[in-house]
Amino acid sequence: MAIRRIATEEAFALDTQLAALKRARLDHPDDSDAAFWSMVLDGGYEDIVGGLLDLGEERVRVMDAYGIDMHVLLLTSPGVQLLDADAAASLATLANDRLAEAIARYPMRFAGLASFAPQDPMRAAKEMERAAGALKLNGFVVNSHTNGEYLDEPRYWPILEAAAALGKPLYIHPRTLPPGATAPYLSRRLTGGIWGYAAETGLHAMRLIMAGVFDRLPDLRIILGHMGEGLPYWLYRIDYMFELQQRQVRSPLEHRPSDYFKRNFAITTSGMNDADVLDFCLKKVGADNIMWAVDYPYQDSAGAVAFLEDAAIDSAAKAKIWGGNAERIFGIAPRPPERKNS
Ligand code: MN
Repeated sequence: MAIRRIATEEAFALDTQLAALKRARLDHPDDSDAAFWSMVLDGGYEDIVGGLLDLGEERVRVMDAYGIDMHVLLLTSPGVQLLDADAAASLATLANDRLAEAIARYPMRFAGLASFAPQDPMRAAKEMERAAGALKLNGFVVNSHTNGEYLDEPRYWPILEAAAALGKPLYIHPRTLPPGATAPYLSRRLTGGIWGYAAETGLHAMRLIMAGVFDRLPDLRIILGHMGEGLPYWLYRIDYMFELQQRQVRSPLEHRPSDYFKRNFAITTSGMNDADVLDFCLKKVGADNIMWAVDYPYQDSAGAVAFLEDAAIDSAAKAKIWGGNAERIFGIAPRPPERKNS
């Protein structure tokens, strides 16, 4: 059977969400995500906005054009996280319903990760239960910080506990740094995907590790895009400096930071179509922990497909990266064997 190509970080949006993001500019004048969306929605990005809003024929046509079997969909960043708690929770529910409907229309082409509103952790945990249960979604997505706070803070633990208990992964997708941290990035236009996203999201992952989240929840699985937001490159130095810090204040962590990264994380290739980096990450985190992604509609499908097609890596590893790992990690049913016409 042909290898299935499953793209694992593919964005969609709802009209309601985009309208709310446009209004968020007024409530959050210093937030770079609000500024970004205000600019995008002012015009000039109709192709991207159109791609985000489409959960139907045109998206499938693009997938077909590049031989992509499936999109794992997630509500585009910053999701619901710029809104107040009530509006955020309602929008997450609506987005999850729309996502489940799209998957029901195209069960072999779409899978999806559920949104939730971290602003209200108990309600978030309930929505996660509904999304994994009744809606049968494949995992969860959060866009890094919420109001400058990270999920390792005790008030957010119900969210991490829900993901672990439901046995579904949590994708930590980037957004810009909190307003108080952006000044040195803003003046050199570094807040976005060029650098700030990775700094922000890598920090979030490191906070979870250092807080001991994975000692308490050893089965929790976190997914990072963009080849792990730089962390695979840093593992040696992280462990080294961790040991050095132990002389001052003894950490209660049961393992080295890199052990958690290898055990509790998976990474995707989204927006990082670099075969050398893939080679390196295969050595650092192994073929079972890497999934292919495009980052549609922000990055182009052609480049992402060509990158993995051309990568000179072991064919069994390549099959896992194209789709085998996504089937296992997201609980996507394997494609039924093709029946012969009789
Ligand atoms: Mn993305």
